Amino acid sequence: MENQFLKYEKKLIKSGLAEDGDPLLGILDAKIKWNKKDKAGKVFESIFESLNINSLIFSKPKEPYFSIINYLAKNSDGIIRPCDCETRTFFHDLPVSDKFNTDAIISRLKKRKCVIIPDYGIIATGMVSIEQAFITYSSVCFSCFVKFFSDYLYAIKYNKPDKRFIQIFEKVLNFVSPPLSFNHCLLQGPFNSSTDVLNALTEAGKLMVDLKLVDSFFGNISYCYNDTLFISQTGSSLDELEGCIDLCPLDGSSCAGITASSEFPAHLDIFKKTGHKAILHGHPKFSVILSMDCEVTNCSNKGLCHITCPCKRNVCGIPVVSGEVGSGTCGLCNTVPEAIIDKPGVIVYGHGIFTSGIKDFNEPFMNLLKIENDCYKEYLNRVYTKLHSKR
Ligand SMILES: [Zn+2]
Ligand SMILES: [Zn+2]
Repeated sequence: MENQFLKYEKKLIKSGLAEDGDPLLGILDAKIKWNKKDKAGKVFESIFESLNINSLIFSKPKEPYFSIINYLAKNSDGIIRPCDCETRTFFHDLPVSDKFNTDAIISRLKKRKCVIIPDYGIIATGMVSIEQAFITYSSVCFSCFVKFFSDYLYAIKYNKPDKRFIQIFEKVLNFVSPPLSFNHCLLQGPFNSSTDVLNALTEAGKLMVDLKLVDSFFGNISYCYNDTLFISQTGSSLDELEGCIDLCPLDGSSCAGITASSEFPAHLDIFKKTGHKAILHGHPKFSVILSMDCEVTNCSNKGLCHITCPCKRNVCGIPVVSGEVGSGTCGLCNTVPEAIIDKPGVIVYGHGIFTSGIKDFNEPFMNLLKIENDCYKEYLNRVYTKLHSKR
């Protein structure tokens, strides 16, 4: 239990989602155990009694999330409705409770895995493990970040953000990291043994999370060696890949693909179409935000462009394609592989980036970073050119 508490406290702090000392974590064993004493303990005990959950995380999010979430919550009608893929996959919407009150909190948690209480923080629950509560908490932060910056750009372009919105935007921008970089070389391929492949995957997965190119439980990564695709398992944590990599023979002769990442078909086809052995998929925020900033007004599929869209678009020279998670007809496995040929990467609408490299993860990593850094600069460019042209 202590280990679980330590592990997830550390993850919350390292991911920049909470300040040291803030997160309250509770797990139900024979009785409820807490990582620390909290004055609102009674409220949380009642939550456990009223719901079918075994774990809970409550914390004030760290900046910029605190200001972002407060702003969105206070300007909502009681529900925040983000529009990116993580949110569509994991929640429908994010309920807000303007009071720190047992009944108000419980009624919302009966329908959703989280509740936002302005000025207090986020409560996230898990049915079977504290890991679930952590994923939910981190997805709330991600989705609100993407929504806040998307809404601001929209307001700049189509109406005028009010004074408060501009103030909060300028404030949170100070907390948003400047362009990211890394200056050491990753393991160099082509690799000659399974052990080298596993080490390369583990190293690259960890760096993706460290550089915040993906929340730890999203994204996936693969390497093709010896007619076998080595790929991260679905739901695995990219910064803890040891023991969580599936080996899927290219000829489909084994069913190992069942626990493999839901993007297995896309990885397989990228390899088949490009011959590139190393493939990365992450959810860097500004690429996701810009992928949804579409100026096409007469799209025949408007409103559903994340599923399928006939328009050819690009952001910073990188193709933007539609496509859903998984292998359905509208799956991104049918759009990404074709679009990535001869390109540094592909952005999936409202979702994230795929990049690939011939022999190791150095090239796809550099490309992923460059695309996100370019998108960050382009975002600011779009905001400030519009702002000045309006003045
Ligand atoms: Zn993804
Ligand atoms: Zn469209």
